[in-house]
Amino acid sequence: MRYDAIVIGAGIGGCAAGCVLAGAGKKVLVLERMGRTGGRCSSEEKFGYKMDLGGHIIIRCEYGPIEEALRRVGKGGVVKFRHLKKLMLKHSGLEVKMGVKMGSKEINNLIFSIIPPEIFTAVSQIMPLASGMMSGIVKQYDDMSIGEMLKKYVKSEQIQDLADLIQFVLFGMPYSLTPAGELLRIALDSTSGLLGSATERELSIGYPLGGLISIPEAMCEGIREKGGEVRLDVDVKKIIIEDERVAGVESADGEVINAPVVISNGGIKETVNDLVGEQYFESGYVDRINGLISGFAPWCLRAALDSSITDIEVALNVPVGNLEEQFSQMWYKRRIPEGMPAHMVISPSNMDPELAPCGKQSLIAYGPVAYNTDDSLDKLEEFALKALEDTFPGFTAHLMWHDFLTPADYAVFGEKEASIIGIAQTFNQVGDKRPSTVSPMEGLYFVGGEAGRDISGVGVELCARSGIACADYIVRTVFQKLGDGGAG
Ligand SMILES: Cc1cc2nc3c(=O)[nH]c(=O)nc-3n(C[C@H](O)[C@H](O)[C@H](O)COP(=O)(O)OP(=O)(O)OC[C@H]3O[C@@H](n4cnc5c(N)ncnc54)[C@H](O)[C@@H]3O)c2cc1C
Repeated sequence: MRYDAIVIGAGIGGCAAGCVLAGAGKKVLVLERMGRTGGRCSSEEKFGYKMDLGGHIIIRCEYGPIEEALRRVGKGGVVKFRHLKKLMLKHSGLEVKMGVKMGSKEINNLIFSIIPPEIFTAVSQIMPLASGMMSGIVKQYDDMSIGEMLKKYVKSEQIQDLADLIQFVLFGMPYSLTPAGELLRIALDSTSGLLGSATERELSIGYPLGGLISIPEAMCEGIREKGGEVRLDVDVKKIIIEDERVAGVESADGEVINAPVVISNGGIKETVNDLVGEQYFESGYVDRINGLISGFAPWCLRAALDSSITDIEVALNVPVGNLEEQFSQMWYKRRIPEGMPAHMVISPSNMDPELAPCGKQSLIAYGPVAYNTDDSLDKLEEFALKALEDTFPGFTAHLMWHDFLTPADYAVFGEKEASIIGIAQTFNQVGDKRPSTVSPMEGLYFVGGEAGRDISGVGVELCARSGIACADYIVRTVFQKLGDGGAG
């Protein structure tokens, strides 16, 4: 069998790239080392519960890049999303339960209250005329940290508290390391609400019915229906280079599969160093790739309850006024903070009752930690159980079983540093300084949380965008250059 392209890894980036290529009539083969699709955005059956690999809320749901990728393979509208309705915020000693309608005025106000006035004014004047210019203005803030921006422009403590929440949810990094430009990019990109034309659609935030895995599964089904192939349990050990260009891949079982294009969703450092070999690249490129900084790794506690104890869908629990201190302690000292580390709790079964046996409930708590922390991770497990009881009284009495995932459980997806989102959205790694999806090796591309120049967004959304942008580029340029329009 001759393939136009091989995609290594069926994470969201890999699946999205596969959709675009299959949708364009290319013969694509997706190889996934695990027995299921989705990578970090996936689910598994456990004792009658369908448990996700980590609590997720999805930005832009059916109006964003996930839907775009699905549409490319005729699967538009197949993944249904439950829009977030019941949110709990625990912050600064306050516990607020909200019935939120994402896209409402309050949410827009919250986001835009932290945008510097000069940006606000500039953007509202020029946005309709020149979106290109706007990205130039935002870019100027890529060298200023969110911390500096807040100090300079934001006086209200309340707004500072809200900014804590946003920082936690969007970036999970110390303020001092997150470029303000990236926040602005995400905020501006998320909505044109600034100009009074926000719609609920643009800010749609929710959860996929059927669990996280329903997203990659629908994408893979679409790829197959368009003539592509998705093979599970195939671990790619090597990318074959011949005549200074990609020729195919070799699996751990020694199977050789040829294709002129290989798209890796298996981590940019791991692809360059392990799958290809650094000797095939210029040393400056290898240094740049190896110097990329990954974001925090996750810890995750998944709990199965014998009955429903809360109707909250998502709870954000951010400690009183010391988020930056916590993050800095974890980041620089690799220590787990005392007290209450910031975390998020999601109840998949509240958003889709089919995910737990009738009348029962699932809760998933997760938060950031340094992948190489010097502290025992048992401390986090104990903390998480206590925090769940604090947030949802009766939790302990109704707990049937729980498991606890550590960074090592996520490292199997490729990236050794097991980051929640891939490379951190930090200085020199955002906007036009993000690594390109196009590698210097002819025929080799990267997708997922580690690649995509000028691509911004949050988590899954960003990965889907990187897959779409990469594959669109390949269809536009590479296959035309190859001259035969591909094997398909
Ligand atoms: C606990 C947790 C909570 C999160 N919460 C959110 C959230 O609320 N909202 C959000 O948008 N995002 C969230 N994220 C982030 C989101 O899950 C990731 O950004 C996204 O899923 C990463 O996709 P990716 O394309 O980088 O692929 P990955 O998930 O990294 O998948 C890569 C795939 O490639 C496979 N692979 C790697 N190497 C090989 C090889 N050599 N051969 C074959 N297969 C290989 C892996 O097995 C894996 O399936 C969260 C992540 C975690 C861990």
